[in-house]
Amino acid sequence: MTAPFQHVALIGLGLIAGSIALAQRRADPSVRVTGFARSAQTRATAREIGLCEVFETPADAVAGADLVILCVPIGAMAEVMDQIAPHLKDGALVSDVGSVKRAVLEAVVPRLPTGVAFVGAHPMAGTEHSGPHAGFATLFENRWTLIVPVDGKRSARSDQIAAFWQGLGANTEVMDADHHDLVCAVVSHAPHLIAYTMVGVADDLRRVTDTEVVKFSAAGFRDFTRIAASDPTMWRDVFLTNKDATLEILGRFTEELFALQRAIRTGDGEHLYDYFTRTRAIRRGIIDAGQDTDAPDFGRAGAKGEDT
Ligand code: NAP
Repeated sequence: MTAPFQHVALIGLGLIAGSIALAQRRADPSVRVTGFARSAQTRATAREIGLCEVFETPADAVAGADLVILCVPIGAMAEVMDQIAPHLKDGALVSDVGSVKRAVLEAVVPRLPTGVAFVGAHPMAGTEHSGPHAGFATLFENRWTLIVPVDGKRSARSDQIAAFWQGLGANTEVMDADHHDLVCAVVSHAPHLIAYTMVGVADDLRRVTDTEVVKFSAAGFRDFTRIAASDPTMWRDVFLTNKDATLEILGRFTEELFALQRAIRTGDGEHLYDYFTRTRAIRRGIIDAGQDTDAPDFGRAGAKGEDT
């Protein structure tokens, strides 16, 4: 099958862009991949590890590209669009990998030049690591990439970007931006905030109990620390731009937490047992769907990317 795009340009050269470049090379090395990152250091590293053809300006990186993917934090999308807009090829498709979609549509769509289309995308895969070194070719394999057209509807253009992600090993589904943001608030954004909070609380306790919290940390806490080690810029932008959906889910979370708190206080073991039985079944469902394994190390052996 011929590749849906012959020249792909990546703006931002971190974990996600790096993984796209490596996955693309593995899938079809005949596709040209060019890229740009704002810092000379990142450009030098990307060049050193041979991620893609790295250019000194965003204009040169996007020149002639059929597909341009914005791989920068959500708060930087508008600025980056301003830099590349005059240099996009007529008929090019712009896409992104941002973890929030309504905010990206609002930042990007008004800046598109005539003759250039936009379809958003969000690979639900990542790790807590950042930068060009963090990328790996199998990150998207068997993970979902949500395709988010401007009007929420499938089209020839959305099929084209879906085919691109499928070529990198991902499963795809088309989704409307608001629905995407709500789903991600449940499965990714609120859990990250809870992990940040838990680790923050433990850090406060550490000051009280000296080093015990870290020294004797059980697997539960260690898993929280992995999530809470995620990139501060990316996650600041996620919460600033997916405010309503995250607050909605956190409201529900707080209610459930209070109910569990009450069950503990009143010794309602039945409530706790039933609740934990229900949540265990959800974990089973994720394993059955092939989105994780039930290995005792929490299924992360082999550095498989986590959903984000
Ligand atoms: P990353 O490894 O930190 O890389 C970010 C890239 O964006 C770097 O090349 C950085 O350039 C550039 N950048 C940062 N701020 C910028 C600015 N103000 N203007 C221009 N460029 C800027 O991040 P990532 O994990 O690849 O994330 C990129 C996007 O993917 C984000 O929108 C995030 O929401 C989304 N995403 C991330 C994950 C994940 O798990 N990490 C998963 C799915 C989607 P320099 O290196 O030169 O500073």
